[in-house]
Amino acid sequence: MSATLPQHAPTGLLIGGDWSAGDTQFEVLDPASLETLAMVGDASVADGLDAVAAAHDAFGAWAATPARERAEVLRRAFEIMTAEIEDCARLIVLENGKAFSDAMGEARYAAEFFRWFAEEAVRVAGGFRDAPAGDKMIITDHTPAGVAYLITPWNFPAAMATRKLAPALAAGCTTVLKPAEQTPLTALWVGEVLQRAGAPAGVVNIVATSQAGPVSEAILADPRVATLSFTGSTPVGKILLAQTAQRVLTSSMELGGNAPFLVLEGADVEAAVDGAMVAKMRNGGAACTAANRFYVHASLVDEFSSRFRSALAAMRIGPGIDRSNDLGAMVSTGERDKINQLLEDAAAEGGRVDAVSEAPTAGAFIAPHLVHGVEHGSTLTRNEVFGPVAPIVTFEDTRDAIRMANDTEYGLISYVYARDKGVGITVGRQLQSGMVAIDRGVVSDAAAPFGGMKESGLGREGGFHGIHEFLETRYLAVDW
Ligand code: ADP
Repeated sequence: MSATLPQHAPTGLLIGGDWSAGDTQFEVLDPASLETLAMVGDASVADGLDAVAAAHDAFGAWAATPARERAEVLRRAFEIMTAEIEDCARLIVLENGKAFSDAMGEARYAAEFFRWFAEEAVRVAGGFRDAPAGDKMIITDHTPAGVAYLITPWNFPAAMATRKLAPALAAGCTTVLKPAEQTPLTALWVGEVLQRAGAPAGVVNIVATSQAGPVSEAILADPRVATLSFTGSTPVGKILLAQTAQRVLTSSMELGGNAPFLVLEGADVEAAVDGAMVAKMRNGGAACTAANRFYVHASLVDEFSSRFRSALAAMRIGPGIDRSNDLGAMVSTGERDKINQLLEDAAAEGGRVDAVSEAPTAGAFIAPHLVHGVEHGSTLTRNEVFGPVAPIVTFEDTRDAIRMANDTEYGLISYVYARDKGVGITVGRQLQSGMVAIDRGVVSDAAAPFGGMKESGLGREGGFHGIHEFLETRYLAVDW
C-alpha cells in the first residue's frame, strides 16, 4: 500500500520536448490518505505561452509528416502504454482515488484511443464531385487545424488526455495539454509515453497549473492557437466558449450530464441491476456518463431496489491501491462534501436516504447511498451527483418516463432497460441524448462517437468523427 510512484512518472512541465521543474510547484494529494503524493511544476501564464510557441514551431513539420509516420508514433504509444498498463493504472489510483479495477479499465480504454487513431490517421478522405450546373469540379480536402489546446478533467486522467491527444496528433495538429490540477501525473506520464513513441519535440506540450483560469485565458487569446477541446463542467465550458468566441475558434466541448436510467415494464431486473452497478458505480460514480437518476416501473421497483441494495452493500470500500477494494476514494474531500450536501438536500426535500454500508472515515471516502421517495425535479435529480448516490423515482407510464428523462438541460447519455430490443430502440430514439445505452451499463468505445446534445456539449470525440474536430475542410472549385 505504499504510495511509490512508477518508474516513469515525470512531475515537471513538458515544453518543446524538454522537461523542466517550473519556477514553483503545487501539491498533488492521494485522496485515500490525504497525504502528499508529489510536487508538480506549476505553469505560469508565461510557461503556457512558451508551450504555445513550441507547438506553433513544431506544427509545420508535423503537419507535413506523412500520415503513415504519424500513425506509427500513435501505434507505438499504444504498445508502450499496453506494456506498462499497470503503471498507468497505479498513477490513476494514487492521484484520483478510484478502485484499481476501474483504473485498469480506464487505462485500457485510454490506450485504445492511440490504436484507433493510429488506424484513422491514414484514412482521412477528401471528396470529389461535379457541380450540378456542370461548370466546375468540387474538390474537398482536409487540413490540420493547427495548434490545439486541450483541457482535461480529473475523473479520467488518462482517457480524457488520450481521447484528445490521439486524434489531434493523427490529424497533424500539435498540442498543448492542460490536465486538471488534482490529477496531472497521469497526463505527464502519457506525455512521456508519446516522447518514447517518437513524437517530435514540441508536438506534445503539457502544462499542469494551479491557475487554470489565467493560463487558459492567455492561451486562448494567442493567435497561434487554432482550436480548443475541453472536457469538464458546463459552467466552465460556457466561460471557455465566451473566450473562444473572441477569436472565433472552433471548439469541442464535452460537458456535464444528468443521465436517466430507465427500467421499463418487462425489463430483466437482474440484468438492470448489473447494468446499474456499472452505470452508477464505475469510477465511484464520478463520470459525466454516470447514471444520475433511476426511473423504475412501479411493477419492478421493489425487486430492483432490493437487488440493487444488496449489490451495493457487497462492495468493499477502501484505498484503490488495495486491489480487493471495489469502491475507492472520491478525488478530494471537497468533492465528497458536495455529495454529502446533496444527500442533506434530498433528506430536507422528503427523500429517504439509505446509506447501504459504512465508509472509512480517514480519506475522501463515501459509502453508496440509495435515495427513495424523491420527486422528479428535486435537487438531487436536477444536479450531477458525481458520486455513489442513486435516487429512485417510480413511474407507471412509459411516456412519463421519457418525459422525465428528457426534462433536463443536459443530454449526454441515457440508459434504457427494456429486455425487448424493439421497445428499447423505440424508446431510445425518443431520448434527447447524444448516447443511449440499451440493456447495457456502459457505452464508451474508442470506435464510437462520444458526445452530448443540449448543454452537454458540442462535437464528438472518438469514432470516425473525432479526428474531424482537429481538421479544417477546404473546398477547391476547379473550372471545368
Ligand atoms: P470539475 O468540476 O470536474 O473539476 P471543471 O470544469 O472545474 O470540472 O474542471 C475541468 C477542467 O477545467 C480542469 O482541467 C480545470 O483545471 C479546468 N478549468 C477550471 N476552471 C477553468 C477556467 N476558468 N478556465 C479554463 N480551465 C478551467
